[in-house]
Amino acid sequence: ILSLGLKGRKFSDLEERLCKPEQLHPKPEESALVFGKYFTDHMLEVSWDAKKGWGKPQITPLHSLEIHPAAKVLHYAIELFEGMKAYRGEDGRLRMFRPDRNMARMIATSKRSSLPSFDADEMIKCMKRLIKIDRSWIPHSTTSSLYIRPTFIATDPSLGVASPSKALLYVILCPVGPYFASGFKPVSLMADPQYVRSWPGGCGPMKMGANYAPTIYIQKQAEHLGHQQVLWLYGQDHQLTEVGTMNIFVYMYNEKGEKELITPPLDGLILPGVTRLSILELAREWNEFRVIERTITMPEVVRAREEGRLIEIFGAGTACVVCPVAQIAYEGRVCFNDYLHKTSRLLFWRRHTKALKILDYKYSEQYWVLDV
Ligand code: PMP
Repeated sequence: ILSLGLKGRKFSDLEERLCKPEQLHPKPEESALVFGKYFTDHMLEVSWDAKKGWGKPQITPLHSLEIHPAAKVLHYAIELFEGMKAYRGEDGRLRMFRPDRNMARMIATSKRSSLPSFDADEMIKCMKRLIKIDRSWIPHSTTSSLYIRPTFIATDPSLGVASPSKALLYVILCPVGPYFASGFKPVSLMADPQYVRSWPGGCGPMKMGANYAPTIYIQKQAEHLGHQQVLWLYGQDHQLTEVGTMNIFVYMYNEKGEKELITPPLDGLILPGVTRLSILELAREWNEFRVIERTITMPEVVRAREEGRLIEIFGAGTACVVCPVAQIAYEGRVCFNDYLHKTSRLLFWRRHTKALKILDYKYSEQYWVLDV
């Protein structure tokens, strides 16, 4: 029984209406996988009504949604989402990567969006079933995976900025290759303190669509200037917060000559990334260098770079896992990260991909998809 509990109401058994053979879509070549362009054959949907509670979870052929033009999602952006992955392991088994973390974040964002809560474990069970049905879409190549996009929208047909009385939670799946068109190459960042993504007391740590729409214009500015991503700064002291849709890590020597891996703290400005958490846990386990969650500013990074103490900067997120930074344009100068260009490049990145593979196994044992 799949029961997503809410105020004493339960989801009843999952209903399935699967594609007929002629409705199945041809799969794209794995080498042609562009992020977010291809979708699997089925989707999961669960509707919610303030009076009736949650409806039955349903797996159906992927289809367009029909919503009233007054639906709150279309006017006040009452929408949130998650991004997580399922992988084909080297042992051939299929695993989701730490879905409990994503569901905890989704529930936190639901609360902040005035949308209802749900039972994370039951939701994971529904998603596993969906993935199992569409498992033939999970790519085989080591650089590809299945991206899982749970989405939650307010659908009640009434204008007025108020709590929604109807909502739809759905999940779609995309086979994906490398996130950036440049593949796994190091990226160039624009760091311009006139743009701010998030602020104290705001919704920066929430994964709501309304956080992303205003960033696209700035992302375009960065691209116009020849960079791939925006390095989001905050405050008079130009604190590093996030890079594009990734958390940021700086690996450098401190003034005492000790190696430190530094990432901004969860202080209400940044999204609590699951990849960030996994890298922190992993690096602490290695016990080879200091691992620090603290505010780090651009002047500090520039000084470390000038004094030859900067080793590596990288972004971390589900879509690209670990993405090395090649250079940062800041206050009229370009701060190059020579290390990446000189030596074996991507030392950290390589270690992390290997390490994250290990993490897949370490953290996902309880989430075997095919054993459900
Ligand atoms: N920051 C932002 C703004 C993001 O959108 C994401 C992607 N979810 C991340 C960081 C990385 O989070 P995660 O590792 O959970 O994907």
